[in-house]
Amino acid sequence: MSTTTAPVRFFQFGDPQIGMGLDGAEGDTRRLAIAVEHANTRALGPETVLLLCGDLVHWASAGSQPCPPAELDGVVTGISQFKGTVLRLPGNHDIFSPASRALYLSTHNLAESYYAHTVPGVTFVVLDATTLIKEPKQYEEVERKHGEGQWAWIETVLGEARKRGDEVVVAGHYPVYIFDEDEEDCYWTFAAGPRRRFMSLMRAHSVRHYFCGHMHRTFAATTRKGDFTVWVVGGTSTVTDEKTNSYGYRVFDLIRGDAAFPPLSDATTHPMSQHTLLRTSYVRLDLPSDAVPPSCEEWSHLWPKLPARPEGVVTELVGV
Ligand SMILES: [Zn+2]
Repeated sequence: MSTTTAPVRFFQFGDPQIGMGLDGAEGDTRRLAIAVEHANTRALGPETVLLLCGDLVHWASAGSQPCPPAELDGVVTGISQFKGTVLRLPGNHDIFSPASRALYLSTHNLAESYYAHTVPGVTFVVLDATTLIKEPKQYEEVERKHGEGQWAWIETVLGEARKRGDEVVVAGHYPVYIFDEDEEDCYWTFAAGPRRRFMSLMRAHSVRHYFCGHMHRTFAATTRKGDFTVWVVGGTSTVTDEKTNSYGYRVFDLIRGDAAFPPLSDATTHPMSQHTLLRTSYVRLDLPSDAVPPSCEEWSHLWPKLPARPEGVVTELVGV
């Protein structure tokens, strides 16, 4: 006999990075608020989650000056109208030292920069990947200890979630990889050692999906083995695929059993676990013309290079 369970819906937002867009903090804040307003029309209730995938502020001075208040305020203002629960996680522009972590925690009223959030049947695992992506010896002691504590915590929280029979949604700021797990190291992703460690942990707990930002472009990359997908969204401050995916967000439904659900247009469906499907579509925002920032095309070639594409991968990146 089939069962019917309501879907669990969540949104994936890329980097708000208030202060990065060429129309300043005000423009970035406005686009974030427009995206939130749009997502609200699809929210299913207060349990609907919005994953805010890091680099909440730009903080161009990287700590040599205080973070501009307009950037910190812009994030808080931009997400304030969301009707569900916002799960924010830090990126490299938010946390790059113990002092910046303290500012992040106080700004967002968090006890720790990584945490779990549960709704019936699903555990969201929210990471502070700033202390996960490098080889341990590359970190100062405080950050290395933070990372080791977090690795142990991930293992515990995944084990507990599975014992409850929950699906797990794991999110961090950085892609684990861009094309496939055996690609060369690059600026954008987990380094080789932590990447292997992370993938092995995910596989041990049958996690098949990971949600992130950092790339300022929108794509999804499935391993050649076909057992793991990295979902990346470009964000609302600056995107290098501005002519194609442009500014937008993703919506996901976790569909358990034969759930009845409000349909998503242009959706694709992916296996989540034995009993659950992940259905998703990308929402490209139709922004008012005065909310579209000046093109970043002229300077996007200055961005760090992508790794070489290994043989046999199918991921296509546009705007590169
Ligand atoms: Zn980043």
